[in-house]
Amino acid sequence: MSTKDYLEKDYYAVLGVPKTATAEEIKKAYRKLARQYHPDTNKGDATKETKFKEISEAYDVLSDSKRRKEYDEARTLFGSGVGGQRPGGGGGGFPFDFGDLFGGTAQPGSGGGAGDRLGDLFGGLFNRGGSTRTSTTSRPRRGQDVESEVTLTFTEAAEGTTVSLRLTSSAACGACTGTGARAGTTPRVCPTCEGTGAASRNLGNFAFSEPCRDCKGRGLIVDDPCPVCEGSGRAKSTRTIQARIPAGVADGQRVKLKGKGGPGENGGPAGDLYILAHVKPHAVFGRSGDNLTITVPVTFTEAALGAEIKVPTLKGMPVTLRIPAGTPNSRTFRVRGRGVTRKDGTKGDLLATVEVVVPNTLDDKSRELLTEFSTANAGEDPRAELIQRARSE
Ligand SMILES: [Zn+2]
Ligand SMILES: [Zn+2]
Repeated sequence: MSTKDYLEKDYYAVLGVPKTATAEEIKKAYRKLARQYHPDTNKGDATKETKFKEISEAYDVLSDSKRRKEYDEARTLFGSGVGGQRPGGGGGGFPFDFGDLFGGTAQPGSGGGAGDRLGDLFGGLFNRGGSTRTSTTSRPRRGQDVESEVTLTFTEAAEGTTVSLRLTSSAACGACTGTGARAGTTPRVCPTCEGTGAASRNLGNFAFSEPCRDCKGRGLIVDDPCPVCEGSGRAKSTRTIQARIPAGVADGQRVKLKGKGGPGENGGPAGDLYILAHVKPHAVFGRSGDNLTITVPVTFTEAALGAEIKVPTLKGMPVTLRIPAGTPNSRTFRVRGRGVTRKDGTKGDLLATVEVVVPNTLDDKSRELLTEFSTANAGEDPRAELIQRARSE
């Protein structure tokens, strides 16, 4: 039994039962097919002999609740027939190294816990014992990619900042140097499989290879487990790093810091660090890509007569903005170079949108002057065209 078998063979289809079949249904289906295809009743028929082999293999796995569960999990994780479908699969070859696939990939926030669990699952499931394992552990391995999160103020995100991050990652247990055996002891070679991690099982005339049950396919047996890691050989390591967040990070953006992830093993390169940035909103400014946005109140007379108004900037002194006479409400003015810092060090713009405010109280003098203004403009109906257009539609 190999990895490839688990992924490419549909044992349910072989026995003609649904995935939800009960143990009893599986047994029944197997008995019926076994009678039909048994070599004793089909002497010399090679096709039927092969079929019988397949049926036995399928029943072997599906009748054992533990192995059936492992088989289901393996197929759920990878889908069926994955080896042949992937580009470069080489028509049924199995090009993946499970050690790399799981060992090198960290799960968000867990510091690689899920990866380790999968590694264990597959390490136990498939034949990764003996010589294979020895060469895997001494080979240079890239460190884990690590994912972290950070919450920035609006200004920190726009200007760039340095944050202090506590990172937890999985490393070899320091007490047992990753062997899982109590310090001073060493794991012994499994006598059942002689360190290969694989065992042969006879079923009638046929022999199958499967993970050794005594060492769970590891090839090694730990008699006296390390008390620090409880025999897992792994430990959590925590470190604090200073991470530079570049200017211009947007909310929800992931920043990649190359080589700041988990340390490599046996001289392999370090993994990368991915930081998910959350950016708090600002009370006054908004963001539109590299530009900052702001709404600036202006009086009716400033808009009508033109004015020089002060506009705040994110960092630094307010700038003076000249608005021309006859500026309509909601017009946006561009203040160059007062936006968000870009990658190349240049800056976006500040987009200032004017909002005409109407005084909610008037003193006698103002009322008098506005009434005079209104009289001077009598005869100008701003809605005349609107009413005309509404009628003509
Ligand atoms: Zn340990
Ligand atoms: Zn063994």
